[in-house]
Parts: sequence; C-alpha cells; structure tokens
Amino acid sequence: MTGREMCFEQGPIRPPNEARSLLLRITRNCPWNQCLFCPVYKKKKFSLRTVDEIKQDIQTVRDIADDIKAISWELGSGGRINDQVISHVFGHEGYSEGYRSVAIWLYYGTGACFLQDADNLIMKTKDLVDVLGFLREKFPEISRVTTYSRSRTVVRKSVESLKDIKEAGLDRIHIGLESGHDPVLKLVKKGVSAAQHIEAGKKVLQAGMELSEYVMPGLGGQEMWREHAIDTALVLNQINPHFIRLRSLRVPSRVPLHKKLEDGTFTMQTDDMLAEEIKLFIENLEGITSTVTSDHIMNLLEEVTGRLPEEKEKMLQVIREYQGLPESERLIYIVGRRGGAYRSTGDLNRDHVTYQKIKNLVRDITAKDGTQGVEKFITDMVDRYI
Ligand code: SF4
Repeated sequence: MTGREMCFEQGPIRPPNEARSLLLRITRNCPWNQCLFCPVYKKKKFSLRTVDEIKQDIQTVRDIADDIKAISWELGSGGRINDQVISHVFGHEGYSEGYRSVAIWLYYGTGACFLQDADNLIMKTKDLVDVLGFLREKFPEISRVTTYSRSRTVVRKSVESLKDIKEAGLDRIHIGLESGHDPVLKLVKKGVSAAQHIEAGKKVLQAGMELSEYVMPGLGGQEMWREHAIDTALVLNQINPHFIRLRSLRVPSRVPLHKKLEDGTFTMQTDDMLAEEIKLFIENLEGITSTVTSDHIMNLLEEVTGRLPEEKEKMLQVIREYQGLPESERLIYIVGRRGGAYRSTGDLNRDHVTYQKIKNLVRDITAKDGTQGVEKFITDMVDRYI
C-alpha cells in the first residue's frame, strides 16, 4: 500500500502505562489463551509473524513518521508534531489508522514503543534480536522498548538469551503474575506455578531488564483471598521487581470464570473486601524496593501507589481512610469511582453538585432494588470497560 493509506498491524491491548507508546504487533494473540478470567484473545488463534513481515511494518512506521514530519513542514510547523499537525491528520479523510496512531505517538513524544501481543518471548531468540536490532536502527530516537511475556515462556530462555534480547534493545517485560498462590493459579488455569513466576522474574532481572509484575486483587475470591494476598506478596518479596501493578478482577459474562460464579464455586470479593485484601497484600510486601501502581481503571483506590519501603505506610493510610468512611459514603465513592467521577476519596468533598447527584442516584436505586441493585448497577458499569 502506498500514500497516506499506508498501514501496519496493531493488536487489541497494551498496559495502561503504554497508552502513549508506539504499538507494534510482533506476534498475534496468545499462545496459552486459557486463563479463565481473560477475555482478550478468546476464539482467536495464536500465530507468529515472520521477521520479514515485522520488519516491513517497522519500515512502514518509519515512512509514515517521515511523511508526518514532511506534512508539518508543509503546514509551517517546522517539523514539530503539534496541534496543527494533529488536526490536519485527524481532520482529513484519507489518512489511515496507522497515520493517526503514529501522529499521536509523535505528538506525545514519549519515545516509547510497546511490542504486542501476549507473549513475545515465545519468538526464537535470534528472530527477536533481529527484529529489535532493526527497530533500534530505524528509530534511534526510541528510548524505551517493552513487551508482554508469560513466566512459563521466560523460564525456557537462558539468562544468556535474555541478555542478548536486552542488548538488542528490549528494556522491560510486563508479566501477568496475577497470584503467587498455587491453588489460585490452578483454579484460573494460569498455566504457571508460583515457583516458575519467581524463576522467571529473577531471570529477567539477572539479564538486566526492567520487570513489571501484574497482580490481580480479587482472584482468590472470597474462598482464598487471604492466601492469595499473602502468597502473592511472598512471591514478589523473592523477586523484587521494578514495578508491581494492581489490576483488580472483574468477571463479565463472556469470560469462562463467569461459569464458576454461576455454579457457586467462585464468589467475588466485594469492593470493601477487596480493600481489606489489598491492605493485607501491601502489609506483607517486605524487604523490596518496587514501585506499586494502581493505574488500571478497574482499581477502586488509585492512590494506592508508591515506592517501597518508604511509601508503604502512605499506601496503607489510603486504604484505612476509605475503610473509615461511613458505609453510605463508601457506596457513593464506589459509584462515583466506577462512573469516572472520582479518583480518590478526597474527591467526595471537592464537588458538592457531583456528590449530591451520585447520592440521589444511589438513593433511587436502593429504594427500587435494595443494595443488591446498587451492586448490579456498579457491575454493569464496570463490565462495560472490559
Ligand atoms: S496468558 Fe495473558 S493473554 Fe493469555 S490467556 Fe492468560 S491472561 Fe490472557
């Protein structure tokens, strides 16, 4: 394809903190695809892309980036990707999605690139090294390259291979740890054990890469929440990753875990229970220097974020403040948070009009359907995001 219809392949998801990164798909879908809580790639078949195909995409992105800079000169913006260039690319038909996504990436100027999809270390080391080398050669201005991978795939690579991959230009791996409690990992068919998580995490760090571990509060349900919280913290204490990212469980009807909700073998934690679970989890993180983040829309308390060990107490205090609210206020906060109006419990006092609107909404739903009606309202609202 030529002209301003040039395009390249992109996958469906990226971590929240990669929202402003260049997204490049180097494998398609997930080779495991069995986790019961995961809706992303179900019914889609995994496939490797050839090195030539991926290089062609990288070249296309280079060509698009160069063309967007040329457009900027034509518009009198001197090669800068500013509001004028963005309005031009988005305001005119004929520019492909590829153009738009590269334009936005250049506009934000993060210099970051995220390689999609779910488990890219499954590529042969020499192929991944080849792709990374080409990417770095074509984009010397890129300052950070990251990707997703599974612990079970990482343990199959030698530290030497991981070092080669790091040398070639991969800076960070995001791993879905989810839980450090083996019965939970087994229940949700994660296909990996706590011991493998530890081995994989240590290998990534030995190779000199940054490591981001995703934890899923709620995944133990009401049945195993304590063990899930404590064992996950103990596993992370052994790894000491750079980042621990919280992404709370939601179970929309289209994920396989929903069947367990229906047959009563899995019971969701309520938001109040989750707050207690996350408190227990944070309390048990010890002897590590990771940064905890709650940057996912599914998390109730976004402010549970900070550097360990110095900000541990601050994070626990955020949870205690939530727990110290009267029940009616917690409900207003939950509805406001899920609806996108609130980011912290402090917001309850900031905008009286919003507060009153949500209070009236909660009152009306409760009068009609009781507190269960509010729970259902929240579930419907949140599941739209997944
Ligand atoms: S490994 Fe990741 S992408 Fe694959 S099914 Fe599990 S959670 Fe989903």
